Amino acid sequence: MEIKNGVRLLRGSPNTLIVGNYVVDPGQPEDRAGEILSIAGRSPVVLLTHFHADHLTATPNGAEVYAPWGEELFVASVRARLFFTHGVYVEGAVYKGSDIQLSGVVKPGEKIGPFEVVALPGHTFGHVGYYTEGVLYAGDALFGEKVLEKYGVPYLMDVDMFLSSLDKIIELDPETLVIGHGPLRVARGELRNW
Ligand SMILES: [Zn+2]
Repeated sequence: MEIKNGVRLLRGSPNTLIVGNYVVDPGQPEDRAGEILSIAGRSPVVLLTHFHADHLTATPNGAEVYAPWGEELFVASVRARLFFTHGVYVEGAVYKGSDIQLSGVVKPGEKIGPFEVVALPGHTFGHVGYYTEGVLYAGDALFGEKVLEKYGVPYLMDVDMFLSSLDKIIELDPETLVIGHGPLRVARGELRNW
């Protein structure tokens, strides 16, 4: 679906944001890659909010991929990713993904394609969001009610960072907020009540 001129959203868990050939968080499962290519075209540029496998498993083969600065090793290597997520290399992990050849890293404050990179750490240390035309893709910097009901607490590496990232999102006051898992979007003004 189209959120606004040229900003498309592919629903899923996580949701995927697509602007032109730029794809934020391809998500999972692997065969979602085909759907992504049909929207973004044959030479996608993939931008990741963080290294978690459920956000990158559907990265199309041959895509140009950018990891958030500081998390590039975990994006590139499935072994490093699993070690860091679970503390062991578990073959049977639900979300695993594969090794990914990176084209580069993105840092908060930088611009890439139509997006501005916003630091939103807490869920992971290097977690970033992507902002364009009043739309903020916040990845796992926020969780929907369903996720919180299921897991009780959100997965966080640093609670203080997570809370200041929430403040930053409120301050940024996006017209449309898209989060990784959960409701499609939150309208302006509703955010404070979360
Ligand atoms: Zn995550």
